[in-house]
Amino acid sequence: MRVGLLARRVREYLDAAAEHWIGWTLPPVQRAIADADWKPDERDVYCHRCGDSVGPGEATAEGCGTCRKGGELSGGIGNGVVRLGAYVEPLERWVPQIKYQRWAEMGEHLGRLLAERVRESDLVWTHRTIVVPMPMPWQRRLYRGIDHTGVIATAVARELGRPVRRVLARVNGQPQVKRSPSERRRFGGDGLRIRRRLIGQWDLSECHVLLVDDVRTTGASLRSATRLLRTLKPERIVCAVLAVSDSKARRQRTQRWVLTEAAQTVEVDVLVNGPVPAASPRSWSQ
Ligand SMILES: [Zn+2]
Repeated sequence: MRVGLLARRVREYLDAAAEHWIGWTLPPVQRAIADADWKPDERDVYCHRCGDSVGPGEATAEGCGTCRKGGELSGGIGNGVVRLGAYVEPLERWVPQIKYQRWAEMGEHLGRLLAERVRESDLVWTHRTIVVPMPMPWQRRLYRGIDHTGVIATAVARELGRPVRRVLARVNGQPQVKRSPSERRRFGGDGLRIRRRLIGQWDLSECHVLLVDDVRTTGASLRSATRLLRTLKPERIVCAVLAVSDSKARRQRTQRWVLTEAAQTVEVDVLVNGPVPAASPRSWSQ
């Protein structure tokens, strides 16, 4: 028996035993990935300016239909986007599980894969890179029990051998207070702000910032984060996300939602009115 096969048998046995005794609710990461038959996107299936899925030849150096001048994300996001995939199955299932079921192991694994993709992208120079996680309000971190973007960002940084810098912070809800012009420079949309340092100021000059987030939806939060970070004058800002919910992914989800809704409506109808009567047998007597 080949060593690889033997190792797999042993792993499967241990998994089965652990499942039996501990009662896993989340599968081992490698098994989940193998079961879903999933691998990260290749470079040519998405736009490196905004992260949207593209067809062959659709994206040029200036971007794609979404981020070219006048598009929804005109000018793209920062100096580019690296992603693992579109926000559809299985990422659409795994990301909420990382967040709400505290599946840190999956967050770390996907973070490592994301770092590999960042390295291949050539969008940042690794030796100048600092990793900045998209922040969440501390209240949310407290009740969720996991800072999932922090987990992902730490794995990315470790894989690249670079530091994590928590440059950004976020306040819960929209701040209502009036701000002075200098405060306004520190605060962006979405409750984002530059974190105050205890000593000195942030110095990001000559840095390549890798801004890490779980999902890019409209791109608005990432855009306001890059705007804020720009005030610290880094050389580049590149976004690294696990998934992008582009219009194609959104359409797919809406379609599925409509189908599920339709199925539920039929289900409810059957529950309320009883099963649909079979078509009455056609009379041939006439
Ligand atoms: Zn684009």
